[in-house]
Amino acid sequence: LKELMQQLKGLPSETVDGHRVEVAANVSSASDLAAVLKNDAEGIGLFRSEFIYMGRDTLPSEEEQFNIYKLAIETMAGKRVIIRTLDIGADKEASAFHLPKEENPALGMRAIRICLKRPEIFKTQLRAILRASAFGKAAIMFPLITSVWEVWKAREILDEVRMELDKKGIAYDHHMEVGIMVETPAAALISDKLAKEVDFFSIGTNDLSQYTLVVDRTSRVLSDFFNPHHPAVLKLIQMTVENAHKAGIWVGMCGELGSDLSITETFLRMGVDEFSVAPYSVLPLRKQIRSIDLSK
Ligand code: PEP
Ligand code: MG
Repeated sequence: LKELMQQLKGLPSETVDGHRVEVAANVSSASDLAAVLKNDAEGIGLFRSEFIYMGRDTLPSEEEQFNIYKLAIETMAGKRVIIRTLDIGADKEASAFHLPKEENPALGMRAIRICLKRPEIFKTQLRAILRASAFGKAAIMFPLITSVWEVWKAREILDEVRMELDKKGIAYDHHMEVGIMVETPAAALISDKLAKEVDFFSIGTNDLSQYTLVVDRTSRVLSDFFNPHHPAVLKLIQMTVENAHKAGIWVGMCGELGSDLSITETFLRMGVDEFSVAPYSVLPLRKQIRSIDLSK
């Protein structure tokens, strides 16, 4: 089996009838980078930047972040690295933020909400990402979007940081793509409107399932109820893909469902353009894609 997987390296992620998609990898720690290369991922589709902020009492400096993003971008040598901005709160604890205790943290102060409320922290991260973008191909992605104004606001802050860098003559990639995660039912339902504001979508099936099915994604006792194949979830995914393509943008998927080979064909038929999965799932997914014939 291992040898079979080795043979898939360097081959395109393309169906029997020639429909090509991209299979990228998710990165949840700096040590994942080696696995991304080893498994021949076509890019990093989800760089979970929050790991830099977790398990410590102080916030990481711009320089510390810059070095980590730059390392990831240089490691990928021209392949796209999609850096997701801070996604803490709920299942992702970060003590340096001193977040208030909440009754329902999954419905509380987390992800983009924290960034918009504390723009100084957000700006430090954006500056680090922008500076690192000069060293290869980076993209930026905002998590847990539920409305258009959040995208406007986040982009406004990003533009402020760009102008500050321009003023200082600091280099960055002026053509860097800006996207959002579609991982809330609200975002999927207004994906026609959101698609006009960004360069791409990435569907986060973990949170999309949690919020659609009203099932805590971390709960062991509820695991029988956590069914990402639920028709409601699939309908939201389909709607998101259709609205992305209508607006002429590409759409990826970076939740766990992307590596569920039993449903790969469905997503290819829907038109998902990119999958980002755990590094060890890259080659099995490529193998599955190469066995599917969409003309049948
Ligand atoms: C998701 O929610 O599906 C996702 C990819 O992000 P995370 O698992 O980091 O919340
Ligand atoms: Mg998520």
